[in-house]
Amino acid sequence: MPKLQKYQQKIRKYKERLKRLITRIGISYSADFDLKDEKLEKLILPCHLGILFFGDFDIDFFFKIKHRINQVYDSFFFNIKNLGDHNFSFEIFSKGVKKEYREMKKSSDRIKIHPTNKFYEVLINKRIEEKLGMIVAITDLPIYSSSNDNVLFLFGETNLKHRCCVVSSLKLKEQYYGRNKNQDLFEERVIKEVIHEIGHIIMDSTHCVNYLCVMRFSKGVNEIDDKSSDFCSKCKLKLNQIRTDHNF
Ligand SMILES: [Zn+2]
Ligand SMILES: [Zn+2]
Repeated sequence: MPKLQKYQQKIRKYKERLKRLITRIGISYSADFDLKDEKLEKLILPCHLGILFFGDFDIDFFFKIKHRINQVYDSFFFNIKNLGDHNFSFEIFSKGVKKEYREMKKSSDRIKIHPTNKFYEVLINKRIEEKLGMIVAITDLPIYSSSNDNVLFLFGETNLKHRCCVVSSLKLKEQYYGRNKNQDLFEERVIKEVIHEIGHIIMDSTHCVNYLCVMRFSKGVNEIDDKSSDFCSKCKLKLNQIRTDHNF
């Protein structure tokens, strides 16, 4: 085979590999994100928090979430802003998704799960644009971790470096488990997970071992139901220390 053809074949192979990688990690083409402003300033507290919705959520629900965040994170946020609904364009919506078999259901019931990177890219730019200290996304789409290939169907994930997090409500619905709709229980679960992910941004990535603490890691919805939406005394001390360190 002539040399040129060999090279062309090699390049095609590399291109294929690169394409597969891009599909796997979502819409991010680079190792990090395509950001409007790459300067990452240190988190200054208190700060402004934004909540962005991806999917069909009631406006009243935002006010409930805001109220509960203000209760447990007393004085940490100047303001909690509703950033409204974000719709991925069809092209971006279908990019980077994995098709997986839905747990406990027939294999014909395939669903598309979305890499967390896909959300982070939108969130980081929005956070910079809106001059927020941190930002939360709530979606009804199923998500999987962009950084850990083994983690499928997450409840939520935090990007500590860029101070943003995603909570997926799909597996927090009773209907997902074939049970009757329970709106109050559903909202309570979302609120606990949102408070949990914000806790990671403010404190660190470690989980609490206290059974009732909102910072305990939950493997399933039953574990979310078992814990409270508040911090244990140890985590409260940690938060107080952060308040002192930031002079508020
Ligand atoms: Zn966690
Ligand atoms: Zn705790």
